[in-house]
Amino acid sequence: MYQSAKMIQKDILNLLYPNLCAACNAYLSENEQVICISCELRLPLTHYHLSQENPIMKKFWGRLPLLHAASFYLFLKTGRVQQLMHQLKYRNNTMVGERVGQLYAQQLLNDEVVFTQADLIIPIPLHYKKLRQRGYNQSDYFAKGLSEKLKIPWSNLLLEKVVNTDSQTGKNRIQRWENVENVFKVKESNAFIDKHVVLVDDVVTTGSTLEACAYTIINKWQCKLSVLTIASAI
Ligand SMILES: [Zn+2]
Repeated sequence: MYQSAKMIQKDILNLLYPNLCAACNAYLSENEQVICISCELRLPLTHYHLSQENPIMKKFWGRLPLLHAASFYLFLKTGRVQQLMHQLKYRNNTMVGERVGQLYAQQLLNDEVVFTQADLIIPIPLHYKKLRQRGYNQSDYFAKGLSEKLKIPWSNLLLEKVVNTDSQTGKNRIQRWENVENVFKVKESNAFIDKHVVLVDDVVTTGSTLEACAYTIINKWQCKLSVLTIASAI
């Protein structure tokens, strides 16, 4: 009786606030979470985690000594991935980040790649002004989803973004680099010593933000670094 009352309550809630796929807006069935099965199968996977010579690794060659770098999806300006990222960044749909993290983690575990052996997952922090404006850091949820499945701890308390770099749009890469060189600060240095740290972000485009963040850590604490992002626009 209790169970059916619960189910009726759930049905009413579904009518009022329908459970829709974050990538295509189709109704989700009972056994689907956040992204429908059809989208799960059609979202453009990069499989970059399987290659050391993928476009993200190449982007960082000569810039950062990374153990590995990969993205789950290819970022296209229109379509399902764009819709997912929009939901995550601008529609308060933080469940997208967590779900994508879980799905990606499962793929990484299936393929037994180096990321699954990491010690710590760190989301790229937002400047406090940006955080106040959005109310949350979208990368935290991606980190949380990865962490749950990979059984690797994550933390958003160890790094801080101390300079707001929003004004960098329109500058070229080198100017941006000069601008972001000291924008991140380590809050707890002991946490990084001799660790394999995975830095995570939502989308990688120029790689400058990730590079600046990585540089802040790697130069001082001899840790190994990897990078994972939800999508790659490279
Ligand atoms: Zn869908």
